[in-house]
Amino acid sequence: MTPPCALPPGLATWLDTHAEALDRGTLDSDTLLPVLGDAGLFRIGVPAALGGAGGDVRDAVEAIAAVAERSLTAAFVFWGQRAFIEYLLQSPNHSLAERSLPSLLEARQAGATGLSNAMKFLSGIESLQIEACPQADCWQLNGGLHWVTNLRKAGFVVAAAVSRSDGQPPAIVALDSGWPGVQRSDDLDLVALRGSNTAALRIDQVALSDEHILHIDARAFLPSVRPAFLGLQCGMSIGLARAALRAAHESGAARHGLADDVANLENSLEQSVQALHQGLADGRFKTAAAPLFRLRIALADTAQHAVEQELMASGGRAYLQSHGAGFARRWREAAFVPIVTPSLSQLRAELSRHDAAQGLAA
Ligand SMILES: Cc1cc2nc3c(=O)[nH]c(=O)nc-3n(C[C@H](O)[C@H](O)[C@H](O)COP(=O)(O)OP(=O)(O)OC[C@H]3O[C@@H](n4cnc5c(N)ncnc54)[C@H](O)[C@@H]3O)c2cc1C
Repeated sequence: MTPPCALPPGLATWLDTHAEALDRGTLDSDTLLPVLGDAGLFRIGVPAALGGAGGDVRDAVEAIAAVAERSLTAAFVFWGQRAFIEYLLQSPNHSLAERSLPSLLEARQAGATGLSNAMKFLSGIESLQIEACPQADCWQLNGGLHWVTNLRKAGFVVAAAVSRSDGQPPAIVALDSGWPGVQRSDDLDLVALRGSNTAALRIDQVALSDEHILHIDARAFLPSVRPAFLGLQCGMSIGLARAALRAAHESGAARHGLADDVANLENSLEQSVQALHQGLADGRFKTAAAPLFRLRIALADTAQHAVEQELMASGGRAYLQSHGAGFARRWREAAFVPIVTPSLSQLRAELSRHDAAQGLAA
């Protein structure tokens, strides 16, 4: 199994110092990405031949988990950047990858993923929100995205799914904030993760040429990137759970009769992490999504219960400002885990459809 990632000490201290400000949005949001980039995090799990540090996606999952132990805002920004890098690694558009990877790996450029809409579209929950009309030498795009993170004010590229007015299958494209017609809203007024550069996007008569197409067929591309997309997302639950369980110990879980509950959560966390690593290593999630969906649900539940155990072990002290802000921040962070797409309700609906289909086939 890939071991947990040890962050450079300078980065760990920086995250501990700024975790509260990142959550509250009292630090300039554009500060975060270069800090993560300077620590080399975006190179993890990227082939050396492409400018990375080698390893595979499991190393990136563990790196996101290590950051999530200290700040979920930072971990989610890391996820957005790393997911975009993953799209490039898996895109057949090699020249786009070669052009874009160096600045993304160094965090000179921010990469964002606006693919919640596409993932919900694949599940039949919503229609695609950007339409592409073929023109003589390009496509013209119109529409928008309600939620995208890592939209750095200094500039960004964002992956989005577009439906096509000519009836061809939807495509996945990369849009650049510098293009005419790409408009970022102000930061959304969030209750937590406020330093994540999360905003809405309006796409108004944007001209897009073929060289910015990540994949011509979203229905082929999305299932193939889904294991990495979801696996990297699981890193957030893993890190949050580890931090909360450690805090539960420190707050005297054993003295307060919670030793067994905490040990059970630690065991189930360990088992889920092992299963996630195995599935990512042998590629089984590419053809069988259901076990990966179950792991995402299990890890989100574990994170939720871990924060509850931290609360139980702390008792009333959890409500005292002087006890430290860590618990209250983790409580807010934990509220995000079930709703990030694919949400737990979406996954449960997918699984019951899957189980019903299996039943019919049996
Ligand atoms: C802080 C923050 C940052 C975000 N960053 C990004 C980002 O970078 N990129 C991105 O693409 N998105 C991002 N999102 C969006 C996020 O991933 C979810 O898509 C969004 O929060 C849920 O969409 P909604 O509120 O429009 O859900 P709704 O469509 O209003 O649905 C409400 C809930 O019901 C579920 N649901 C709806 N219909 C069904 C159904 N038929 N069956 C089962 N379940 C269903 C949904 O999954 C959701 O959990 C972000 C959201 C937040 C809060």
